[in-house]
Amino acid sequence: MADSVRTQGLFKRFGQQVAVAGVDLVVPRGSFAGLVGPNGAGKTTTLSMITGLLRPDGGLIEVDGVNVWRDPALVKSRIGVLPEGLRLYERLSGRELLHYNGQLRGIPEAEVERRAEELLKVMDLVESADKLVVDYSTGMRKKIGLAAALLHNPSVLFIDEPFEGVDPVSANSLEEVLRRFTGSGSTVIFSSHVMDLVERLCSWVSVMSRGQIVAQGPLDEVCGGRKLNQAFLDLVGVRGNGEEGLTWLGTAKQ
Ligand code: ATP
Repeated sequence: MADSVRTQGLFKRFGQQVAVAGVDLVVPRGSFAGLVGPNGAGKTTTLSMITGLLRPDGGLIEVDGVNVWRDPALVKSRIGVLPEGLRLYERLSGRELLHYNGQLRGIPEAEVERRAEELLKVMDLVESADKLVVDYSTGMRKKIGLAAALLHNPSVLFIDEPFEGVDPVSANSLEEVLRRFTGSGSTVIFSSHVMDLVERLCSWVSVMSRGQIVAQGPLDEVCGGRKLNQAFLDLVGVRGNGEEGLTWLGTAKQ
């Protein structure tokens, strides 16, 4: 069976800046996969290319065995994406947003209705369902975006920082939904800086640094008996950023 995602020699530069320098990312089907790396490592750029939002300068990408840049429409019909800074239709209510997404995806109206109501309930958005999205809080936006990304039952879901701004109660139900989703053979790939979250949720992890994959595999293999946070520091190298300076900071002077 094909992996959910496979890239070979993925490459992207912005002017002189090489953002992604030959990435071979592999994510087996049914994984709860974490993509981690320091700021600027190239995670967002990589995910944007895999989801068909940004054209690569080189390399190959397959999602469910389909070449993303040869058949972008087919791939987009099979994936759900919740990117960083997602733009939503602000003048629709949460419920309207889900119905509109359902129509765009060609799902029959009765089915959209059923799925939308279930998702609103799981996301604890029933009471806010008729409020305009422009008036939603950060966490509510994340939840309605996630509901929209799940509505067509994608086989692979890509999320940037899944629970950022989401309250603990909602995070708990979302976690449950995503676990059930991967348990049924679908795949979740998310990028995060929250190592505890990655360690708790993920079966698979890919570590990026300076535009390349520096380690990837089952979580326990990548950790090699260490906490993920320690493995991460060992892999990406602890940088001396002069933090021993700043001697003026925090000294309560009269
Ligand atoms: P973070 O964890 O901070 O979100 P990241 O791993 O997602 O970081 P990217 O956003 O992929 O990193 O950025 C990788 C590199 O590419 C950075 O050096 C960034 O400055 C550069 N870069 C990304 N997008 C652009 C762009 N549109 N134009 C120019 N440079 C860019």
